[in-house]
Amino acid sequence: MPARTATTPLVDPFQRAISYLRVSVTDRCDFRCTYCMAEHMTFLPKRELLTLEELDRLCTTFIRMGVEKLRITGGEPLVRKGIMTFFEAMSRHLESGALKELTLTTNGSQLARFAKDLAALGVRRVNVSLDTLDAEKFARITRWGRLPQVMGGIEAARSAGLRVKINAVALKGFNDDELLGLAEWCAKEDHDLTWIEVMPMGEMGEELRLDQYWPLKDLRARLAERYTLTDLAERTGGPARYVRLEETGQKIGFITPLTHNFCESCNRVRVTCTGELYMCLGQEDMADLRAPLRASDADALLEDAIRAAIARKPKGHDFDYSRQKVAGQVSRHMSHTGG
Ligand code: SAM
Ligand code: SF4
Repeated sequence: MPARTATTPLVDPFQRAISYLRVSVTDRCDFRCTYCMAEHMTFLPKRELLTLEELDRLCTTFIRMGVEKLRITGGEPLVRKGIMTFFEAMSRHLESGALKELTLTTNGSQLARFAKDLAALGVRRVNVSLDTLDAEKFARITRWGRLPQVMGGIEAARSAGLRVKINAVALKGFNDDELLGLAEWCAKEDHDLTWIEVMPMGEMGEELRLDQYWPLKDLRARLAERYTLTDLAERTGGPARYVRLEETGQKIGFITPLTHNFCESCNRVRVTCTGELYMCLGQEDMADLRAPLRASDADALLEDAIRAAIARKPKGHDFDYSRQKVAGQVSRHMSHTGG
């Protein structure tokens, strides 16, 4: 065994280097998407959340240990008070070259306010969640969201020079009729597009989820009726697979965590807004990083806790929709683990 130093990179027991960290900075949100949150959510008391300074220490420690890509998520990350201070703090790691990419996943509601600042701090790309282009349907699925606000945010992101990727959750009986419409709109606007299979998260009724489940292989088959699809070999270490539509040249991603096994190339871990480190989205095992963060101002305890957790990163997850019952379901909401 080589001597352990602060810069020994994080490698899990299956020889996967951990280079990608997703951090949820809040459990709160200004929307209430039906597949993500209950309408009346009880949010965590503020003291449970990592402070912005603690988030800085945590991310900085991961970056020192080899994380090169940092994605900020939530809840809605841009509703966290003072969040731009945190982005500003993280931008120093972009400047030093330690961090290759700083990015975020957002519902777009606050982008009109923040897009310029984000771009100035070195953010190059944003993922914006948008399941429909129909204002009435948008209000229905997000409960509290309004489409024009998000469209304004997307426009602001583009004007600020940010590359936009649209993430749409595939919901049977909801946006299946927008498969082509969303693709055409993204081609016209020059946005990337990724479809996400709905996942069995949280405690929403099991029947509701099974009803809404729209396997991405069906989307792919329907796209193939209209377009010539070419599978792209490119992988990001994550669950997305890509096709190119030859007629438009655009690239469409499919995130199929339930029907595809992407675990063998998994290079990522997640931290919740309370400092719980999840080594796998589909498993309950986690490590508390808040206690070591709060126990000492030095980062040695934190580093030890991270290394001990990565040594337990499982080979893969257990989601399985193939049986009638949702198997391998985990009880966390996406807004908690951070999507
Ligand atoms: N609020 C931000 C947003 O909506 O982009 C960031 C957090 S949200 C939890 C991250 C992603 O998770 C979004 O793209 C959202 O659509 C997706 N998501 C939430 N619940 C989901 C579920 N049950 N299945 C699949 N995707 C889900
Ligand atoms: Fe909020 Fe994002 Fe969840 Fe929708 S998906 S409720 S925008 S956290």
